[in-house]
Amino acid sequence: MSRRYSSKRRKSSRNKVETVSVEDAVENALEEISKEIKVEEEPIEEEFEAYELEDIEGVGRVTAEKLRNAGYYTVRDIAFASVKELAEAIGSEDRARALIIKAQKLIFKGKTFMTAKEFWESRQGIRYISTGCKALDDLLGGGIETKAITEFIGEFGAGKTQLCHQLCVMVQLPYDKGGLNAKAVYIDTEGTFRPERIIQIAKYRGLNPDEALENIIYARAYSSDHQMILVDEVKKLVTSERVKLVVIDSLVAHFRSEYPGRENLAVRQQKLNRHVHQLIKLADVYNLAVVVTNQVLANPEAFFAAPMKPAGGHIVAHGCTYRIWLRKSKEGIRIARIIDSPKHPEIEATFRITEEGIVDV
Ligand code: ADP
Ligand code: MG
Repeated sequence: MSRRYSSKRRKSSRNKVETVSVEDAVENALEEISKEIKVEEEPIEEEFEAYELEDIEGVGRVTAEKLRNAGYYTVRDIAFASVKELAEAIGSEDRARALIIKAQKLIFKGKTFMTAKEFWESRQGIRYISTGCKALDDLLGGGIETKAITEFIGEFGAGKTQLCHQLCVMVQLPYDKGGLNAKAVYIDTEGTFRPERIIQIAKYRGLNPDEALENIIYARAYSSDHQMILVDEVKKLVTSERVKLVVIDSLVAHFRSEYPGRENLAVRQQKLNRHVHQLIKLADVYNLAVVVTNQVLANPEAFFAAPMKPAGGHIVAHGCTYRIWLRKSKEGIRIARIIDSPKHPEIEATFRITEEGIVDV
């Protein structure tokens, strides 16, 4: 808006108009007002759709179809695939390796390494989704980060699901209100998603509740396999829809119930590992925020250690970039504590769960 005003002003000064018309006066006044309102420019987003699978040297229609059927939809999916996984789709490890190299050349314009400066510049693409609570944003260093997995851990009723609902609304807000002007995907494993809560939170944040609901792409996951298939499907979505948040509530519930006991632990962890890597890749490749929730268990080895620990073991601990432990305090008040992060000091923040969502105390 301000750009339009300034171009008109240039024109009028060129013409050296002495008397100020009513129209100009109004425009000048508007310009003064617009100077006071700091309009944040929308950052330029990277283009993911620039290449088709068929653009990879040696990939024809038949191979492309085979790849798509196996869940590889974009050149990025190929470039960041593992040789072994891709070989399952196309039959040979040599062929898979060659394809990965060709896809990477396409994306990185022939370069294999980058300088630290280029890496730093690529990190500038990271965005933050405000939680809507200043204390929590400060704790997180600005909000929920893209290209990362943020894990909310806590007992039943700690507020994990409430935070997920909140973020699905917050991501839709414009940049100057802390959002990313984008949609959210909600993968619900426990059946606790409530559109009514979205309506309440959206109204409070000044969004049209109908539109807010339209901008949340929802799926109920009925098993761990289904959950993993859904994440693969999200890759298709992000190339056609502007999705900047993917929620999985909860990450390990299905895995725990399907693989109970010590005898199943190795298989469960192996599968969970694949799932977590699916998510790491999704966040990184498509520059979006992944938010997962996790339960806590009694810690049987708690002689010196804490009596409770997050589920999922080392796989989840290492896979998630930021781990935030939520616990109940007084009525409606919750305490969030960062327990594992490459950059935040270990500190706490308090927030309140209300009808309007998550707010400062
Ligand atoms: P979990 O960590 O198990 O996912 P939830 O996110 O579902 O927990 O949090 C449930 C809590 O959120 C409830 O116990 C209640 O305190 C609070 N809550 C849920 N809905 C509302 C609401 N409409 N108004 C105020 N508080 C609410
Ligand atoms: Mg929940």
